[in-house]
This record gives sequence, structure tokens and C-alpha cells, in this order.
Amino acid sequence: MNALHIIKTSLTILLLPILSLPVQAAEVTEGRLIAADKDASNWMSHGRNYGEERYSPLTQVSDGNVDKLGLAWSYKYGVDRVVEATPIVVDGVMYTTGAYSMVYALDAKTGRELWRYDPKVWRGIAGRGCCDAANRGVAVWGDKVFVGVYDGRLEALDARTGKLVWSVNTLIDPDRNYTITGAPRIVKGKVIIGNGGAEFGVRGYITAYDADTGKQAWRFFTVPGDPAKGDESDTITMIRKTWHGDTYWKQGGGGTVWDSMAYDPTLDLLYIGVGNASYWNPVLRSEAKGDNLFVSSIVAIRPDTGEYAWHYQTTPGDSWDYTATQHIVVTTLNIEGKDRRIVMQAPKNGFFYVLDAATGEFISAEKYGQANWAKRIDPETGRPIIDWAVADYWSTSEPKIVFPGSQGAHNWYPMSYNPNTGLVYIPEQVTMEYFEPLKEATDPRPGVPNLGLVIPKVPESLEAVEELAGVYRGSLLAWDPVKQEERWRQQYEHIANGGTLTTAGNLVFQGTADGRVLAYAADDGEKLWEQPVSSGVVAAPITYQVDGEQYVAFNVGWGGAFPITFGALAYRTHVINDSRLYVFKLDGKAEAPAITRRKIELPTPPPLEADEATLATGEELFGLHCGVCHGLSAMSADIIPDLRYLSDQSHKDFLPIVFGLRANKGMPPFGDILEPDQVEAVRQYVIKRAHHWRDELIKQDKRRAEQAQESQN
Ligand code: CA
Repeated sequence: MNALHIIKTSLTILLLPILSLPVQAAEVTEGRLIAADKDASNWMSHGRNYGEERYSPLTQVSDGNVDKLGLAWSYKYGVDRVVEATPIVVDGVMYTTGAYSMVYALDAKTGRELWRYDPKVWRGIAGRGCCDAANRGVAVWGDKVFVGVYDGRLEALDARTGKLVWSVNTLIDPDRNYTITGAPRIVKGKVIIGNGGAEFGVRGYITAYDADTGKQAWRFFTVPGDPAKGDESDTITMIRKTWHGDTYWKQGGGGTVWDSMAYDPTLDLLYIGVGNASYWNPVLRSEAKGDNLFVSSIVAIRPDTGEYAWHYQTTPGDSWDYTATQHIVVTTLNIEGKDRRIVMQAPKNGFFYVLDAATGEFISAEKYGQANWAKRIDPETGRPIIDWAVADYWSTSEPKIVFPGSQGAHNWYPMSYNPNTGLVYIPEQVTMEYFEPLKEATDPRPGVPNLGLVIPKVPESLEAVEELAGVYRGSLLAWDPVKQEERWRQQYEHIANGGTLTTAGNLVFQGTADGRVLAYAADDGEKLWEQPVSSGVVAAPITYQVDGEQYVAFNVGWGGAFPITFGALAYRTHVINDSRLYVFKLDGKAEAPAITRRKIELPTPPPLEADEATLATGEELFGLHCGVCHGLSAMSADIIPDLRYLSDQSHKDFLPIVFGLRANKGMPPFGDILEPDQVEAVRQYVIKRAHHWRDELIKQDKRRAEQAQESQN
């Protein structure tokens, strides 16, 4: 061994402990977040800056070279289910989340896992709350990472190690179906989080906690509660006047703040997006009277105290699940020659809104999507001119079909705003809903949506599914918020496409429900780059820079409210659950993971033996307890098994499964709700559906063979 070798070896030994330390720990401060626009390398908060523009000033990747993007690295998640998170990148470390609120810290340059944190959410709970085991990401502040956990916890982790620092329960009532799927936001040292669950009957609120200690700082309720307990504030007394009867507070009223928040440091206002009313049916909820504040509203709050500043209600008296929880952007627009600080949103209801950020004053709104519930927004009052002939499903005897449906003309998939082009990039979609009111409310049950409506029957015919699928189409829409008009559009075959990112390189990035990631020119929409990925994409991409190289990261993992509730349509994407993070850079040469797409095989169901009465009982019970997850989930990419495809073994284990055998996989136990003979009736109905489906598939094969024959002739 020569001297040089010894020196080299000793150096390596000396350096090893340093090299194996986690990459530099995060230190996010208020100053850094306020100056985020000048810190192009990082993506330190959910929407990149406090105004949540999702615009990156990075230009290394541009419209001139984006076709040279190649895979830098990819990372396989611990659970193959929905991935909705926007990753956070601070000084070379990425923090992201997957299904069941699991947190992952990765080296942003290499993808090496630094730590992972599993909050150990009971897997069965995902069947009892809204919208899949989703999580939209963490917040970082100081040396801590914050995650909202599906079961209602808010937790702080040590950013260097992933070790739990503190944990609080944010729920006001453990017996209600509250969830947390949103990303926390942090303003002035307070971590702010809301909940989901309005479909099940809950009361909406957000809570702020001290980032260091987890101590509650304030709570803001979005709807009034039990009047016997007294109003929490003058604001509650004010909004109670917009509610009628005494069912709303028993049911909860809704108004959950399950996703959007944005902050304006100059005005010192926090903006929250408030969800739909509960029940949906306004007769059961509020005697079909009143605006029912603050449902379907943007509300401005003072972040120090949680005091109300102003509100604007996008859908007064919402009765169609028209949440205003969609992404809020705060920015400056030049309107009629004057720079104005504004708030903008494309909520579910199909109108694009521009409001004054200081006062909530209505500036403008136009239809960005297909919407027939209202004709336009009255510019004097800022209220919609509702087309009651279409929208009123409760005082007529006819069920109604209304556009958009509960999936919205735009859902939570974040939009982005590019100050260079002046355009907003919206994951737009065409959806509709069938409304048939119940005359009387049903009792709340765990995991069963309680809307005050007849849950529509599953379309069992493939032709009907194809017909519906012709309606449910999405697009990437470039919208001019000043002129309130479309600039360009890229059409997709499916809805539920991913959120968007726009950059100073004149680019827009988006992933799609059918498992692709794409880049377009931000100014004219020309498609510049496309790659297939392992699953459907619903999350929004981000971009960041480490050691002088720009990276573009896509979270990939199909799932969420759409495939769970509209699986018969979602199956057409043919994607499977293979959840990964894909990170690209110019001339990246990493090997791409193998991609599997779903093939549709003919099932061979057991023989159908039950009598008509049993099948009718089974159908009713299925509709009540199973249909919401398993009903429309025809081949919904294994998110929730399509019961028509049950194996022989699963038929044998049917009763134990319904009673809890697969609770850990996400199947809630129904032992406290169903008797064994009722479970068997459900199974018989499942067998009937399987036979019907098999016949449909055979018919389809025949049709296709005939079509092929015809085109040959
Ligand atoms: Ca809803």
C-alpha cells in the first residue's frame, strides 16, 4: 500500500460520515416564502409562491429544447394507490406524499430515499371517508415538515429524520366522516388545515396551529352549528340568518375546506375555498331557502386571529355539489388600464371568477366550461342568473340532468398562471349529474354518502357507458382571465387529468388520466413533448433546480373521487395502479420503469341460482352499502375491486371479507350493519351483474368483429 493510497483511504473514511448524512436540512422562513419568486431553484410551498401561481421562473428547459427531456430518476411509492401530492423541494431535498398520508423525503437530484414516515392510517378508513386515500402534499417551515393525515391528525416531523415531533387531532367530532386530504399551508408561523367529508354530513371549519408546538391558535367555522350551544362569533350569527329550519346543523351543513388556500402578504389576507352544502338536496337541508353561507364561497380571513374579512359566494344556496374549493390564485392583473390585486378561481360550477383581493368585490366572471345551471353572472350583483328550468330538481316531479356534475367543470387538479402569457391553464372537463330528490332524509351511516338524493343506478350496458364516455371529456384550457375568454385548448378523451405547471421557458406541463406526461408551448398550445408513464396522472407537476440543472417532477398514481365514483368511465383509461414519481431533465438517461396497461378479460362467474326476491333484496342492499365504491367501479384500475371480476376464492370468502377479513386492505367491515343472509343476497346480485357483464362483453366482441368485417369489405 503506497502513501498516496493511504491518504486516499483515510480521506474516504473521514468523508464517509459527511457523505452519508442527509442532504442539507430544510430551513423555510417567512422571508424565503415571501421572496419565492426570486428563488427560482426551490419549490418551497404548495403553489410555489404564496399567491399559488404555480409558475416557475426557471428557463433552462424551454420551448426550444423540451423535446430533449429524458428521465433523470424515478421512485416507486410504498403503496400503489392514488398520488395527488405536489412535492415540495427545499435546497436539494424533496418532500412528497403518497396514499394513506405517507411522507417521503428524497434527494431531489438522485431520488435516493432519505427517510419515509408512515402515520399508520387504518387502511379500512379509506372506505369511510371522501375521495380515496388521497393526500395532496406537505408543508415545510423552519426545520419541520407538516402533514395532514387522512384520519384527521395534523403532524409535524423533523425534516432531517422524519421523526414525529408533535401530533394533534383536528376533528371536532370523531363519529363523523371527516378526513384530511389537503396540504397544510403555513402563514406567520401558523399551520392551517381544513377537512373533507361534506357528502357524509359534517360541519366545515379550518384550524390554525402554532408550528413549533402544535398548540391551537384559532378555528374558523364556515357554517353555523347547533344554535343551542351559542354562536362562536358575530360572523356565525351573521351567516346563520342565511339558513332555515333545524336540519342543517344536525346534518352538519357541509362547507368543508378540503383543498384550496392562498395568502397575500401585502394585504395580509388568507383566502380559503369553501366546499358544497350538505345535504345537496336543499329541501332537506334548509327548506330550500337562503344562501346558506359560507358554502361554495371564497372567504378572506386574517391569518393572525382567524377573523372574517370578506366573502364571495360563487354558488348561493348550492344544491349541486358546486364546491369553491378549487385552486385559488392571488396575483396582479391589468384590468381596464389599472393594475389590480385580484383573486381568481375556476370552481366546479363552470364560471371563471376574478375578484378584488382586498375587498372581494366582483370584477368579472364568464363560463369556462359546459354549464347549464346558470345563464350568466349578473355584473351588478355578482350573483348567478340561475336557469331554474334546468337547475331546480326539488320542486318538480321530473329528475333533472345538470351540467356540470359533481366532478365539476374543474376539480381540485390545480391550475397555473403564467404572468408572461397572461394565461391561466385549467384542467377543464365536461361532466353532468342526474338529480332525483329523496322526500325524506335517510339516517347517516359510516361511509355512506348522505345527499338527500336517489343514488343513480349503475349503467350496466357497455353501450350506455360508451355513450356517457362521449360526454365526459377533458381538456387543457388556456384562459385569458382579463378578457375572460378561451385562448387555446388541447382536447383529451378522458376527464380527471392532472394539475398544471407553467414556466418562464414558455411551457405548460401536465399529466393525463390515461398515463402520459406532456409539455405544450404556453403561448399557443403547440404540443412539444410526450412520454408514457406507469399510471394515470392526477397530481400537478413541479420544477426545480439542483447544482445548476433543472428538473421537472411528475407524481404518477391513478385514483381519487372520479375513478371511485365513476369507474365505469374511468376504466377506459386502461391504466393500472403503479404509483411512482418521475423526474426528468435535459438529456436524462435513466432507465424508464416498464409500463403495464390493463387488458379486459372475460370473467367466468359462478352459476346464477338465486330467486328474483333475493336478487331484488341484494340489489337494494348493494345500492345502499356497496355501490358507492364497487358499483360504478367497473374495471376502475384495481383501485377498488370490480365485484363482477371476483375470483372463486373471493366468492368463497365473501362473508368474511364483508365482515372485516380485508379491513387492512381498505375494505370496511359491515358486520354491524348487515346480517349473513343479507350478505349472501348481495353476493347473488353480484353474480347476476357478472353474468350480465359477460353477455355485454360478448356482444361488444361481436359488434367489433362485425365492424372489422365491414371495414374489410
Ligand atoms: Ca363535494
